[in-house]
Amino acid sequence: MPARDYEIRDERFAKMIHRNAGPETLWTGGRWTEGPVYFPAGRYVIFSDIPNDRILRWDEMNGALAVFEQPSRNQNGHTLDRQGRLIACEHRGRCVSRYEIDGTRTVLADSFDGKRLNSPNDVVVKSDGSVWFTDPSYGIDSEYEGDAAPMEQDGRHVYRIGADGGIARVIDDMKQPNGLAFSADESVLFVADTGKTHFPDCEPKIRRYAVNADGVTLGGGEDFVTCEAGLFDGFRIDTQGNIWSSAGDGVHCFAPDGTLLGKILIDEVVSNVCFGGPKRNRLFICATTSLRSVYVNTQGLMA
Ligand code: MG
Repeated sequence: MPARDYEIRDERFAKMIHRNAGPETLWTGGRWTEGPVYFPAGRYVIFSDIPNDRILRWDEMNGALAVFEQPSRNQNGHTLDRQGRLIACEHRGRCVSRYEIDGTRTVLADSFDGKRLNSPNDVVVKSDGSVWFTDPSYGIDSEYEGDAAPMEQDGRHVYRIGADGGIARVIDDMKQPNGLAFSADESVLFVADTGKTHFPDCEPKIRRYAVNADGVTLGGGEDFVTCEAGLFDGFRIDTQGNIWSSAGDGVHCFAPDGTLLGKILIDEVVSNVCFGGPKRNRLFICATTSLRSVYVNTQGLMA
């Protein structure tokens, strides 16, 4: 009875799930899966298995799993840009990179102010083509998810790569910025803080920052929602403005006003999600060792 797969806190959530369709396991065998992105033109999901230093490709048509790239410079988060190119965060590469149409790789950013980035974690592309990414320290903290190294930056921050290739620091008041996404109208940037891993007093939360009228800078941030189970890592937003976030006990769904509407319960810690399928109504879920999916009654924003 799939209803046991859900925790309904609000009737709005009941309308967004299919009670007769629970989450399914598409593949298992990873160590720490992360960074899913769906390619509409190819109907496949690209995602990371960070400690195993590989990127995987799950084919929606035949359910086959293939290694897309290994070693993968311990890639983590992924998204698509407006041209459909893969944008990747690389722990060991300590950069954000782009896969070009001919298959070659371009490094978009690997330093700020003359110092190496920590280990880019998650990334989103704005409609103007700019690339926004978080730079926590997880990929240089140990040898498990990258190469251990001292931090050169003065903290863990959020950056923007402009169309001209210039890189700017846009957030500097977070402990370990992680997943991020824009609201549908791009007036707000949401960013998860997993700083509790290093700073016990840091509440696990998603913060929100108003995008200034210039479209390139942010106003002061404020806490948006806190996590009642584990940490928020990666998340995505649907066309109604609801936030679907990873958490320790599954996927938490929040209304635009921050109300926790309900949960998709998963028996492994969830690191990240993305919407996909031809109708963008299928939520793909990276859950520790596995890739799951569930059909929902809403549609995700692109990438
Ligand atoms: Mg992450």
